[in-house]
Amino acid sequence: MQKAFGIHCRTLFLHKPTTAQMKTHLLLLLALVLATACVSPNQPIRLQGTAQGTYYSIAYLDPQNRDLQPQIDSLLNDFDLTASLWVENSLIRRVNRQEKVCPNAIFEKLLSQSLLIEEYTQGAFNCKIGSLVNLYGFGFKNREDITPQQIDSLLNLIHHGECTISGTPPTVILSEGIELDFNAIAQGYAVDLLAAMLESYGINNYLIDVGGEVIAKGTKNDGNSWTVGIERPAENKYSSPEIETAIMLSNQAIVTSGNYRKYYEKDGVRYSHTIDPNTGRPVNHSLLSVSVVSSTATYADAMATAFMVMGLEKSLQFIHDHPENPDIQAVFFIYDNHGNYKTHATPEFKKLIK
Ligand code: AMP
Ligand code: MG
Repeated sequence: MQKAFGIHCRTLFLHKPTTAQMKTHLLLLLALVLATACVSPNQPIRLQGTAQGTYYSIAYLDPQNRDLQPQIDSLLNDFDLTASLWVENSLIRRVNRQEKVCPNAIFEKLLSQSLLIEEYTQGAFNCKIGSLVNLYGFGFKNREDITPQQIDSLLNLIHHGECTISGTPPTVILSEGIELDFNAIAQGYAVDLLAAMLESYGINNYLIDVGGEVIAKGTKNDGNSWTVGIERPAENKYSSPEIETAIMLSNQAIVTSGNYRKYYEKDGVRYSHTIDPNTGRPVNHSLLSVSVVSSTATYADAMATAFMVMGLEKSLQFIHDHPENPDIQAVFFIYDNHGNYKTHATPEFKKLIK
């Protein structure tokens, strides 16, 4: 379009125009400038910062060129004051201390979505797992020497305990002995909230990345879909990230859950930060990481964690058993029986690969 605009300009002024012709030319020129402005918006605005103990990187096309960094930082800060286990007086920490707490909209949504996904995944995802996560030392407490009795008694509390909201004014009620942990879904929800905020400003072309959890909408300024790289599972937490494959993303989110960055080693055994709520133990199978594409980052985040618990075979069975839900596309990174590194992508996921 820009090229066509250039040719028109040159042909318009090949001869000396009369005043009437000049007016017509100016009108034509104005129309062309407007048309060009419509199809070729400004360069994307790129913002970067830190939040939730990680980075964020956001690009969006805004004909008004607004700098929304203060609004973004404020949203992420409010989010941490609700859902972060690392903020001493966050709402979730106060709930875990059995304080009487009135929930806000962010807390309500995180809880309701977590409970729905717990049911949907038959307990592979469980936001009441906090005390077990702390026991293994992935949370903010120090690791302890763990006995099977400790695990069993915590599992018993987790399976029978509940978290509800009731009363006037509404209060969060958490069974004693259990602790909430929204880490497996919170970052995804923060990404969706940022997307909703950009859309409230009329911005419909954007790429949001909070610590590798990504949502893309619309297109880049050249009209092409946004491209997102998927990290190959690293050998250990110190290895530098390498891109395995790139996918085209539009109106979708992609979230990766893996065992290769967050784990600890004791007596030569690697303990993952993902806990299987059925056994109460860190998951230990050949699935190294899974990337899930879905319409929301909240859902992709929660399902990626649930798939890490299920492992490859059960995850594929789960996707197969839910044909009513086309909203899960995934690629799994595994070590096969011979120690060879392999990927397994669902057919819909393959279509996204660049
Ligand atoms: P993600 O990186 O999204 O898979 O989230 C992992 C984090 O979620 C862990 O560090 C724990 O805080 C928490 N978590 C571990 N296991 C589970 C589980 N089965 N269900 C829900 N949250 C979990
Ligand atoms: Mg997750």
